[in-house]
Amino acid sequence: MTYDVIVIGSGPGGYSAAVRAGQYGLKTAIIEKDPKLGGTCLHVGCIPTKAFLHAADVWERFLHSTEDGIHCENPRLDFPLVSDRKNKIVAKHAKGVEFLMKKNKVDWIKAYGRLAGQGKVEVIADGGKQILETRNIVLATGSEARMLPGLKSDAKRILTNIEILDLREVPKSMAIVGAGAVGVEFASCFHRFGTKVALFEMLPRIVPVEDEEVSKELERLFKRKRNSRRNRCACREHPEDGQWCPILGDAFRRQQGGRGGRNLAGGGGPQAEY
Ligand SMILES: Cc1cc2nc3c(=O)[nH]c(=O)nc-3n(C[C@H](O)[C@H](O)[C@H](O)COP(=O)(O)OP(=O)(O)OC[C@H]3O[C@@H](n4cnc5c(N)ncnc54)[C@H](O)[C@@H]3O)c2cc1C
Repeated sequence: MTYDVIVIGSGPGGYSAAVRAGQYGLKTAIIEKDPKLGGTCLHVGCIPTKAFLHAADVWERFLHSTEDGIHCENPRLDFPLVSDRKNKIVAKHAKGVEFLMKKNKVDWIKAYGRLAGQGKVEVIADGGKQILETRNIVLATGSEARMLPGLKSDAKRILTNIEILDLREVPKSMAIVGAGAVGVEFASCFHRFGTKVALFEMLPRIVPVEDEEVSKELERLFKRKRNSRRNRCACREHPEDGQWCPILGDAFRRQQGGRGGRNLAGGGGPQAEY
């Protein structure tokens, strides 16, 4: 059988292309290497972070409710429950994407996809390899967190957007490397959950690809809420254990009061195989 369209990657780029191809009556398949459909956005990006942001908003309102004339005695943040709620939202939406594939007659192929010449896609799964034929290919392989040179995420001290979303407790302190949209979003959530956050950015302003007014306003808000300290940073070898540390040591250690903090290394790189 020859497909009309094969889409590699099931993030918002891939699944919407697949749905539209299905709606046009094209014989379509979507190939996804991860166990669930939805990509970065749904599983470790836009959606879970918005669940955290919402929880942080609600928590902040509880903490300052008296200002609104509402007394809340002893509010308590149950972070595992916040995380469970986030997971439920993600799982529900992943089911929704799955439903959309069925509804639009798109075949979901659970495998790693590779271009194998004109009109050919190799799919590699536990069961082995197979070549699929297709008239058109849509590459929607997205991006993944880019590590700083010499660093490796370890789910304890060095976190990317993936590990940070799996935390079961609120860290005491956190250094966030990179003050782009993702970095400031995590800074905003975790500061409000109670983490002491230091935000590191090499460029002169936070959210450096946004309009300057946006950076100014956000920095003003962060300062007002004592949300985070912004510092210029680079990567260097730590003198104690020789590991690369994404921090210019002194400023960080002063703020963290030692080395017990978590580091979130920011940025994204392409996930395509060249
Ligand atoms: C923490 C965070 C928060 C974000 N918040 C927002 C936000 O609020 N708003 C917003 O607009 N954007 C946000 N983004 C960005 C958004 O997630 C991305 O722009 C979006 O996911 C890109 O969609 P995509 O379909 O191109 O790729 P992705 O969502 O990255 O999906 C690519 C998919 O392809 C799969 N894949 C890759 N290679 C292969 C292969 N060879 N074979 C099979 N499958 C493969 C991957 O497993 C993945 O599922 C956020 C990102 C992060 C990290």
